[in-house]
Amino acid sequence: MLRVLWKKYSLLVWLGSLLIIGFLATSLASYWVSRDQIRHSIVDQGLPLTGDNIYSEIQRDVLRPTFISSLMASDTFVRDWILSGEQDSAQIVRYLNEVKREYGAVSSFLVSNKTGNYYYSQGILKTVKESEPRDLWFYRVRDMKDPYEMNLDVDFANHDAVTIFINYRVLDYQGNFIGATGVGLTLESLARVIDDIQQRFNRRVYFVNEAGEIIVSAKTGELHKGSIHELPGIAAIATSILNKNSQPTNLEYDAGGGLIMLSSRYIPEFNWYLVVEQTEEEEIARVRQVLMGNLAVSSVVTALVLLLCLYSVNRFQRRLENVAATDSLTGLLNRQAFELMFEQAVHEAHRAKTQLSMILLDIDHFKNINDSHGHLAGDRVIMRVARMLENSLRNGDVLCRWGGEEFLILLKQTSLPAAHGVAEKLRDAMAAEQLQLGHKTLRITGSFGVAQFGGVETLVHFFARVDRALYLAKAAGRNRVEVVE
Ligand code: GH3
Ligand code: MG
Ligand code: MG
Repeated sequence: MLRVLWKKYSLLVWLGSLLIIGFLATSLASYWVSRDQIRHSIVDQGLPLTGDNIYSEIQRDVLRPTFISSLMASDTFVRDWILSGEQDSAQIVRYLNEVKREYGAVSSFLVSNKTGNYYYSQGILKTVKESEPRDLWFYRVRDMKDPYEMNLDVDFANHDAVTIFINYRVLDYQGNFIGATGVGLTLESLARVIDDIQQRFNRRVYFVNEAGEIIVSAKTGELHKGSIHELPGIAAIATSILNKNSQPTNLEYDAGGGLIMLSSRYIPEFNWYLVVEQTEEEEIARVRQVLMGNLAVSSVVTALVLLLCLYSVNRFQRRLENVAATDSLTGLLNRQAFELMFEQAVHEAHRAKTQLSMILLDIDHFKNINDSHGHLAGDRVIMRVARMLENSLRNGDVLCRWGGEEFLILLKQTSLPAAHGVAEKLRDAMAAEQLQLGHKTLRITGSFGVAQFGGVETLVHFFARVDRALYLAKAAGRNRVEVVE
């Protein structure tokens, strides 16, 4: 059974397998390639470009307060006012107020080395002390070589308020340190850029200090907090992120929710690291959707091709079977098919204990028709007789063109007298046929032999008996029915 099925459907199985393998290979290959491309474009271009953008934003943000502070430090009014003993504090307060207003700074300040007074836009804030940790910056500035330093103060309560202080050394005309001045500005535009990047590209942006602590990330989006040495996944690459020597660094890590690509860059102005992260998920999801679409289309195509194949194979097979079983001129069963039908009919007759009869008929003087009207006319007569027989018989009767102008009819569940009756009916019908050949009307007759199946005889034997009856009919003058017992 299985082998028969395999024989019949092996073509379909092979074809189906080939199609599936082909479609899978091309779909998956293009999926891998696109995925790789996306990864590369994120890691090699997307993330570093974001880093570049943010860095240039930082430089722009830092440049302005540095310039303002430098102007303040070299302002002769400021220096003269300190040198003349900090007489009228209202004067310096007005000055600081003007600077703050003019440049949109968060704060402006001046600290005198001599008195330790901290002047700001509203007066004297306090007096700095070396014992006060929050004032340490002033002593650092006093002792440093560089003309200024940058100091970042972060308002942790509000992620927005990344405030940058520029502390400039104020010198007298001989170059001695007399105080520190400068402005504080929020990195507003930087925060905006970071926010924009987080929203538009779904990238996470944050700063990490030298110790690995996350200093600031944007207002929106999913935030990291704490130390990168302790965050899951990222901890494994923390030392690579905090590597000044190889920047920008492109890395990957997995915190359990899929691969995250990361680019880190050292920002010397702050001594911080800028980290930009992106999951590949969103972009890959689109490619995966395309893959699913491809696979769906492929499945439909495969199914259609297989169905079409199955249909044509079956149809072809049916046609082959038909061609092998039927006579090409009349479309009736041929001899081989009849033999099969006979076997089956004998089987049935045995089982159901019914009678089985056979009629053999031969057209009378057929040679004459061929001779006087041509072979084609003869063919038409054969076809006509075939149709007439077909129309006169019952559904269960088996009609076959035995050869030339001879027809064999198997009558199931029919006794000899009944078969005799059928033969007579057919003889009458044949004699009544009028065939129009050109303008001549042709009449034909047939001779019939009838016999009943003996129950144990072979087809050859049975046929010989019917043939004998036919011979008798011919011998008795044709257009007759003869019966053999
Ligand atoms: P009888 O009454 O004794 O049967 O005379 P008959 O002329 O019919 O003699 P017979 O049966 O011996 O000859 C049959 C002829 O039918 C011989 C053959 O050339 C012709 N024939 C056989 N098959 C075909 C066919 O398919 N088409 C045509 N046109 N003629 C055929
Ligand atoms: Mg004949
Ligand atoms: Mg004949």
